[in-house]
This record gives sequence, structure tokens and C-alpha cells, in this order.
Amino acid sequence: MNQHFDLVIIGGGCAGLSLAYQLSQFGENCPKTLIIEEREAYTNDRTWCFWDVKGPIHRDLAPFKWNTFSIKNNHMDFEYSCNETPYLMLPSDIFYKNTLNAINSNKKIQLLTGEKLVDKVIKRDAWHIPTSKFLATASNVVDTRPIKSMTKKDSLMWQSFVGYEVELDGALFVEDKLVLMDFDSNFKEGLAFIYCLPTSNSRALIEYTVFSEDLFTADQLTDRLLEKIEIYTQNKSYTIIRQEKGILPMGNNHIEQVDDPTYLFAGLFAGAARPSSGYAFQRIQTWSKDCAVELKNNRQLIKFKKDSWMQTWMDFLFITVIKKNPIIGAKIFVELFKNCDVRTVADFMSDHSSFWQKLKIIASLPALTFLSAIPELIRSKRRLGGSIDA
Ligand SMILES: Cc1cc2nc3c(=O)[nH]c(=O)nc-3n(C[C@H](O)[C@H](O)[C@H](O)COP(=O)(O)OP(=O)(O)OC[C@H]3O[C@@H](n4cnc5c(N)ncnc54)[C@H](O)[C@@H]3O)c2cc1C
Repeated sequence: MNQHFDLVIIGGGCAGLSLAYQLSQFGENCPKTLIIEEREAYTNDRTWCFWDVKGPIHRDLAPFKWNTFSIKNNHMDFEYSCNETPYLMLPSDIFYKNTLNAINSNKKIQLLTGEKLVDKVIKRDAWHIPTSKFLATASNVVDTRPIKSMTKKDSLMWQSFVGYEVELDGALFVEDKLVLMDFDSNFKEGLAFIYCLPTSNSRALIEYTVFSEDLFTADQLTDRLLEKIEIYTQNKSYTIIRQEKGILPMGNNHIEQVDDPTYLFAGLFAGAARPSSGYAFQRIQTWSKDCAVELKNNRQLIKFKKDSWMQTWMDFLFITVIKKNPIIGAKIFVELFKNCDVRTVADFMSDHSSFWQKLKIIASLPALTFLSAIPELIRSKRRLGGSIDA
């Protein structure tokens, strides 16, 4: 049995479901879409955080919000108010439930879970996508599968992390304050810090994160995480409710697109990850909204937007500095928040900063450190095949 679709989405994770969700909003005018997803069921496998800047998409779904955050290490603790741009957290189970409800209520969209491609995707008159149930053919394909095995050379730097959501018997955490970065100066192979998001006075997601040239597995970071959890829970007994982990590219070689506008790679390794943070959620939302409109109106796909040349250079210069000297990273973040208002930093981290805000960020950072990294940045630009061009 063959079935033809206007669009087949391979991989129903954040990017695949976000695109399908946006398409589902067109009702009857939604292109006939098939999503092929490997996993059998959706679980609360991650949390997405973003700043409340310029009405982020799915903002109203986010049940957790903080107006204060701290940047600290063993010797100092700076507290900042982010009232104007609160920090939001959206657990993935809420996102999956909301998007799946919308997708399932649109008859034009079909989701196949527990399904993998049984052979290569090839193009004849249309794309042929062989599933175990039937042969799907499609006019357009969006492929959001992550790259199979990540190696050091696939990205200038990596963000590796592991986190536990822990629950205590009694109240301990300060609910309305998150720890954005608590630097661990004992870690020498990268810039390491604890990220702590209290979701109640007895529950928190505590993560150990490393920005480094090498990739670290969750197993390699777990002992350090447990050590820090002891400190954060003041040696009280706790229960681990949930675990999350990841390795995100920071300045990656994007997957090379196929030379055919009807096949698009999308998602984390196809331009979604912001180089200086690895964050991708809101970038995926913006792309999926734009791509859905283009598909509905012109039956065409659109790639992730390239960042402005200035933002790209700032991000890559930051990565180059940290890569060269990870320990200086803590100083950079302290200086940044000391000299620059939170709104400007949040706008910058959310891809919404003006030229003047970018200048403000540059002016707040240690000039010599950044200037001396420019030659190395130019060398790595060559190694990455010019992928940092605007
Ligand atoms: C634990 C974690 C926390 C994160 N937190 C944040 C955050 O706070 N803020 C932020 O902006 N970003 C965050 N990110 C980064 C980014 O937003 C996520 O990685 C996001 O899920 C990327 O979306 P994606 O669609 O590219 O990949 P995924 O969401 O991983 O989706 C890929 C999908 O493809 C499926 N798949 C794989 N192989 C096949 C196959 N052969 N056939 C069919 N399907 C297949 C997978 O099962 C998966 O569902 C986080 C990432 C992780 C891992």
C-alpha cells in the first residue's frame, strides 16, 4: 500500500512536533502530513528554558517562572532581578501533550510512533520513504533526525550536562530564585557550573554543565553532580524524581543540506542551536512558524534563518575565548552581568538585540581577552569551512 503526503517529517521531537503543531493550526488548509517518530511514547525527558523576551512562542504553557537569578562561585554570590524578562521553564511533557492534542485533532496529520525508516529515502517522481507499515511518498521532506554519532570535530565546543530533579521531605529551596551559574573552579577541562531551578521549596532540577572542546557523557559528570547536590540539599536525604542529560553543539558544522529544495534537514544540528549557549527551543519555534506559513502558501520549505553577522562573530569570539581559557569564563559572565543590564543580555541571548545593545555587551566585556582571541577565531573559521559567515 502506498500513501502520498504533501510533507513527511522524519523525527517527531521538538522540531518535528513544533512544525506539525504550527501546520495543525491551519485546520482544513493544513498540508497532508506524516510524522515518523522512533520512540514508542513521549515522556518528560527534558525541560526547555527561555527568557520572556518579545512574547516567546508557547510562553503561556510554561508553568515555572523566576524573577531573580544568581551568578556565583565559592567566593562570591551576585543576585540579579530579571523582572522585566523573567526566566521561564517548560517541561517537555506539557509541550508534548499540547502539541500532540493539536496534531491529533487535525485529520490531515498522521503520527506514526515506534517507527523507523526501513531503507534509504530516495527521490523518483516524489520522495520515497519506506516505513515498516507502508511506503510513504512525499512532495517535501523535513528530516530532524540528530546526527548519528557526535565527534569532537563536529563543533567548536560542546555543552555536556546531566541533571537530576530532586525532592526533599521538607522546605529548603528558595522558590523564586534560580541559580543560573554556580562555577566549579575545580573542573579544569572546561567551564563547569551548576544550574539549579527550584520548582517548589522542596523540589529542584539541579544540573552539572560543562562548556568544553571535548564531549562528556552523563556518566562522566554524575559524580560531580551528586557531590554538588549534597551541598545544595545540605546533606539532607532526597529522592531523585527524574533525570535529564544532553550534549549540545556550540558552534557546529551544520548538516550539509541536500541539493534539492524539497528536502530539508532541521533541528539541533541544522542551525537551531545558538552557538554561544546551545539553546534551540525558541529558535525552533520561530523557524517552525515561518516554515509552516511558507508550506501552506507556497508548498515550499524554508531553512533556519542565519544569525546576523555581528551576533555570529560575537558568539564565535566568545566560544574561542572560553575554549582557549575555560577558567576565564566565570570572570566573563560576572563582568557581563556587572556592567550590562539584564534586559540587554536577555535580548541578546534570545536573538532580539539591537545593534546598540550588542555594542553595550561588547563594552561590558574584558576587551584585551577578546581582542587577543581574534586570530584564533579566524583560524577556526577556516577549519569550519567558513560556516560562521553571515
Ligand atoms: C535534556 C535537554 C535539555 C535542553 N534544554 C534546553 C533549554 O532549556 N532551552 C533550549 O533552548 N534548548 C534546550 N535544549 C536543546 C534543544 O532545544 C533540544 O535538544 C531540542 O529537543 C532539539 O530539537 P530537535 O527536534 O532537533 O531534536 P529532538 O527533540 O531530539 O528530536 C529528534 C527526534 O528524532 C527522533 N529520531 C531519531 N532517530 C530517528 C529515526 N531514525 N527515525 C525516526 N525518528 C528518529 C527522536 O526520537 C526524536 O524524537 C535541551 C536539550 C536537551 C537534550
